[in-house]
Amino acid sequence: MIPRRKTVPVAVGPVTLGGEAPVCVQSMTNTDTADVAATTAQVAALARAGSELVRVTVNNEAAAAAVPRIRERLDRQGLAVPLIGDFHFNGHRLLAREPACAEALAKLRINPGNVGRGARRDSQFARLIEIAIHHDRPIRIGVNGGSLDPALLERLMDENARRARPLAPAQVTREALVASALESAARAEALGLGHDRIVLSVKMSGVQDMVAVYRALARRCDYPLHLGLTEAGMGIPGIVASTTALSLLLAEGIGDTLRVSLTPEPGADRCREVEVAREVLQALGLRRFLPRVVACPGCGRTTSTYFQHLASDIQGFLAQQMPRWRQRFPGVENLTVAVMGCVVNGPGESRHADIGISLPGTGERPVAPVYVDGEKMVTLKGEHIAEEFQAIVTDYVQRRFGTSAG
Ligand code: SF4
Repeated sequence: MIPRRKTVPVAVGPVTLGGEAPVCVQSMTNTDTADVAATTAQVAALARAGSELVRVTVNNEAAAAAVPRIRERLDRQGLAVPLIGDFHFNGHRLLAREPACAEALAKLRINPGNVGRGARRDSQFARLIEIAIHHDRPIRIGVNGGSLDPALLERLMDENARRARPLAPAQVTREALVASALESAARAEALGLGHDRIVLSVKMSGVQDMVAVYRALARRCDYPLHLGLTEAGMGIPGIVASTTALSLLLAEGIGDTLRVSLTPEPGADRCREVEVAREVLQALGLRRFLPRVVACPGCGRTTSTYFQHLASDIQGFLAQQMPRWRQRFPGVENLTVAVMGCVVNGPGESRHADIGISLPGTGERPVAPVYVDGEKMVTLKGEHIAEEFQAIVTDYVQRRFGTSAG
């Protein structure tokens, strides 16, 4: 197991961030929050996909008024997923006018660079903190590379210019982001917010920048950290960049909650970001959500697509069964299933998994030995190998993870 950095636990409704709690998956809606039906549906979909916290933007009065109604509808569906409100510029006013919004939210997210401009910034920040204290809500202080407080950056650039050996501007920018988060947290505590009511994030769009600022933050505080690469982009480049940045930090024990900020392709499922976040945590061994399917990549020995179909069918079958299996068969997420393409590595990998099947490669006899707990159990052949293998997996799950209550 990866040793985690020590942090103060922060309760966010029924979920705990930091301390001994597992790293949590978050996501964010992209519906108009004022559209209660659409936002409720998307929060519900994200929660069902495995998002343990969901953030919604609260950008105007209609959105603030909608939040308690969204909460109510989710509760009626039995979905206790905590909602986080994302506020910029007018949060102090919206929350003061709609106290029910603050009550319906489990956490408030504010960006010190967008709390307000000039002289109003400090008073608006103080007002937000007072509201959080009044409603006993934790705050995420979320600094963002694209909206860094310009006054703070200017101050640090001036200080840097007076150094005997000035740092590169990029380094000063990184330091400004970290300083903005830490100074804002210190200000919030000076205003009366508890040390255990603060979560920090410092998001940047470059992998190396993000890793550097989080490492610095981790060294200098014990607040839980929300990880995320902001503006990661679309599709594979976005997934790879996010995964790289998150993995580097998580492997060092840094990070208590995370979001994969993918730009959805038109019409694409918003839940993709949840899926990726869960896979990152599972690949690092930090969480187990789904049984693992070990499948070989295939090569010249698998000239037909049969084995690809079987691997994909098994993966789909397991994902489909999991909502029911999770309830009935505690621990089933620890199952490992191997689907291998030929005799070269097939029997070996299949023996190491809980259940494995070694399919016939090109030119091999059309039979597929199945291994259970390291022993060869049966050899499948014919037209229905996929169905028969799924039945063996189901039977194994019932025997191994079923309780006497069934
Ligand atoms: S197990 Fe066989 S089919 Fe799969 S990659 Fe290895 S050699 Fe190729």
